[in-house]
Amino acid sequence: MSLISASGVSVRFGGAEVLSRVSLSLSAGEIVTVVGPNGSGKSTLLRALLGIQRLSGGKVARRPGLRIGYVPQRLAIDRSLPMTARRFLSLPRPCTDAQAAAALTRCGVADLADRQMVALSGGQLQRVLLARALLHAPEILILDEPTQGLDQPGEAGFYRLIEEVRRDTGVAVLLVSHDLHVVMAASDRVICLNGHVCCEGAPHVVSQAPEYRALFGFGTQGALALYRHDHDHSHGPADGPVHVHGPGCGHDHSHGPSHSHAQKEVHSHAG
Ligand code: ADP
Ligand code: MG
Repeated sequence: MSLISASGVSVRFGGAEVLSRVSLSLSAGEIVTVVGPNGSGKSTLLRALLGIQRLSGGKVARRPGLRIGYVPQRLAIDRSLPMTARRFLSLPRPCTDAQAAAALTRCGVADLADRQMVALSGGQLQRVLLARALLHAPEILILDEPTQGLDQPGEAGFYRLIEEVRRDTGVAVLLVSHDLHVVMAASDRVICLNGHVCCEGAPHVVSQAPEYRALFGFGTQGALALYRHDHDHSHGPADGPVHVHGPGCGHDHSHGPSHSHAQKEVHSHAG
């Protein structure tokens, strides 16, 4: 049985259907990345899976007793209230000093326990949030844009950490990214969402060639991959198993020169 699944899930806000018959399921130990433009319903889908979003149709199933570590997209920290990272880890559920230290160490931020939350950099904050999500031995991590605001080396470092955590604990990971083309290389599947599931497939792991290193920048090697999808053409066999669901995804496929360059590079090196 899958850990968590949505079948035919629809969500409306007022008159607007934000999710339309979305189906998705995650098995133990899998890493699934959901990509999609802003407003495409990614956060709403995660909330639906967590059971904190009312559905207008469809069903969500979670394995009974499933332990979930959730990192929401936005964290409201009251900047007037002093709070250390250590204290933050014990909210809302207390943990021991040993548990807190182990989680912070696992996330590479052991030295930040006594630091004020508001004083953390973007990358440090994401690691503290991940540490909190890891505290109670989750079977699945649900992470909403955890690399938002990080540069590519920062993003790659975070993805490597997730990969290590999966390797060491077997945790499944459902991760949302707003980047349509550059995804976590360790993703078993990428799902492109735009109100509905546009397409899904495996990420295209980038080769070791210097051109790719130049493209992704120093320090990112191995952690990032390209997800190739374009709903305006049909995919040949050489493109691998990308499954297109329905017509016109409607999102913008041109993402500036570096992305179109990336797409061309991959095409010219394929096979
Ligand atoms: P994403 O995470 O992909 O950026 P969201 O799931 O946050 O997208 O939002 C999808 C759409 O639903 C957006 O148009 C957003 O404005 C709308 N929306 C999200 N939450 C609410 C809400 N509580 N009430 C009304 N509209 C909402
Ligand atoms: Mg969102």
